[in-house]
Amino acid sequence: MRKFGIAVHGGAGTILQDKMTREKEDIYTQALREALTVGYVIIEKGGNAVDAVEAAIRCLEDNPCFNAGRGAVFNHEGKHELDASIMDGKFLKAGAISCVKNIKNPITLAKEVMQHSEHVFLCAEGAEEFARWRGIAFAPDEYFFTTQRYEQWQHATANELMQLDHGGEKKFGTVGAVALDQQGNLAAATSTGGITNKRFGRVGDSPMIGAGTYANNRTCAVSCTGHGEYFIRAVVAYDVAALMEYKDMLLKEATDLVVNHKLVEFGAEGGLIAIDSFGNIEMPFNSKGMYRGYWKSAEEPVIAIYK
Ligand code: ASP
Repeated sequence: MRKFGIAVHGGAGTILQDKMTREKEDIYTQALREALTVGYVIIEKGGNAVDAVEAAIRCLEDNPCFNAGRGAVFNHEGKHELDASIMDGKFLKAGAISCVKNIKNPITLAKEVMQHSEHVFLCAEGAEEFARWRGIAFAPDEYFFTTQRYEQWQHATANELMQLDHGGEKKFGTVGAVALDQQGNLAAATSTGGITNKRFGRVGDSPMIGAGTYANNRTCAVSCTGHGEYFIRAVVAYDVAALMEYKDMLLKEATDLVVNHKLVEFGAEGGLIAIDSFGNIEMPFNSKGMYRGYWKSAEEPVIAIYK
């Protein structure tokens, strides 16, 4: 049997063990395990990497714990503006959407753009119009309301902050998934609500192919989480793939160089998950923690939160 595997993240940031309750830890661990399982089962049965990453992300988007889909942060106007992207490493096809409102599962809309439009990136009302045309599910504002995010937003507006923070601690709750299927195909996907109190149509790295998401069967699949303004300029996801392709680096060397050296020197906090065409998985981060997990064929799933 050919090796396969999947990895997911639920965001990086100042996630400190001494600030965490056992109960919260269990909730996150369970959520990551569920997402991993949903994706793993698809690949185990011979399904493709694109479907696996989409399914894993949908699971995380439906969970109010994460800053994507249902649990997305509030923007300046008190709305939820959602960004997502997906890439198929076999054909180098990609789909992305940004600044959409009321889309229940943004990742599914991104996949729809990839598979059923002649474009790569749609935004705002245009993307919503495309979603209606393709019969993608919408959800009312109430669906996206969570008390915790509301309080964060209240705090941010009161203090005029545009924040990646989370009650004083930096935390990026974006979700991502990368997978290698039994046919040797790679895929990556990322979904986010962006940052609390964002305005002016701010878009981070998550929906940008090459910055927050990238997949190429020749090298690897990558999904990032961190301070988008830096990740965009560092073209993080593509940088990992390029180091492998042009410098013959191993996945471990490339991800370590980008996350623990280049991004640190640049002043960027965050991390990424990556899988290569051999099924190797790396999940480096330069923040205190990152919600993450992976499941390789013929092994047990692994979930971790702290360093
Ligand atoms: N990268 C995301 C953004 O800047 C934030 C995150 O990773 O949570 O929009």
